Amino acid sequence: MAHMIVAGNWKMNASKNAVTELLSGLKHGAVTIKNAELVVFPPFPYLAQAQAELTGTSIHIGAQNICAADKGAYTGEVSLTMVKEFGVSYVLVGHSERRALYAEDDAQVAAKYVAIQAAQLTPILCVGETLEQRKQGLTLSVVTGQIQAVIDAAGGASFANAVIAYEPVWAIGTGLTASPGEAQEVHRAIRAHIASVALEQASGLKILYGGSVTATSAEELFAQADIDGGLVGGASLTADSFLAIGQAAK
Ligand code: PEP
Repeated sequence: MAHMIVAGNWKMNASKNAVTELLSGLKHGAVTIKNAELVVFPPFPYLAQAQAELTGTSIHIGAQNICAADKGAYTGEVSLTMVKEFGVSYVLVGHSERRALYAEDDAQVAAKYVAIQAAQLTPILCVGETLEQRKQGLTLSVVTGQIQAVIDAAGGASFANAVIAYEPVWAIGTGLTASPGEAQEVHRAIRAHIASVALEQASGLKILYGGSVTATSAEELFAQADIDGGLVGGASLTADSFLAIGQAAK
């Protein structure tokens, strides 16, 4: 089986000292990770520090967000050209916190996805249902709808250079995790949806699970047929817990 991806979304948590400590722990431990590619997503001000620390290692760098425009009068925004200068190779798009707190809709998510690929970087497209939607039996239609918005804008073939992260909103930062069976059901539906428009791309597509993943839950989650790694928030903030999740990739 192709390798997994274990991605650490630091969100708005860091300091210069914390970055030094975390990355030095990850650098030392990365040699013990045989079956997963590690990616870290520091806040923008720490990208240069991450690049300096990680150049020459196997750990990749991602950006948590991006502006779809390339330059100009967009106060407070950061462009793809800028993050590329700091060794970024992945960009998160559609994270539920961006959707909920910054009102990013499917159209904006799709525009960012297109821009990320145009810049020759790899989008990690985040999708997931709220608790209310799950209770109403809407999980699969919500998730495939979020993906369809991107297919409409970028085409199914675009998934040759993309990663999807299934993150049930009710599991993010709550300590609740979808059971391996619940997660696998959604991952299988996601792969089937991509296969319906791009058969060739669907089988190689990496679909990560996210939502309170720990080393304990990772093992069984990663053993599911359609789970190809994890997008990790809280547990990515210390080297030991993040590395332990990487080691769960078999
Ligand atoms: C996330 O923010 O993508 C996430 C999965 O966070 P946590 O692991 O803390 O639930």
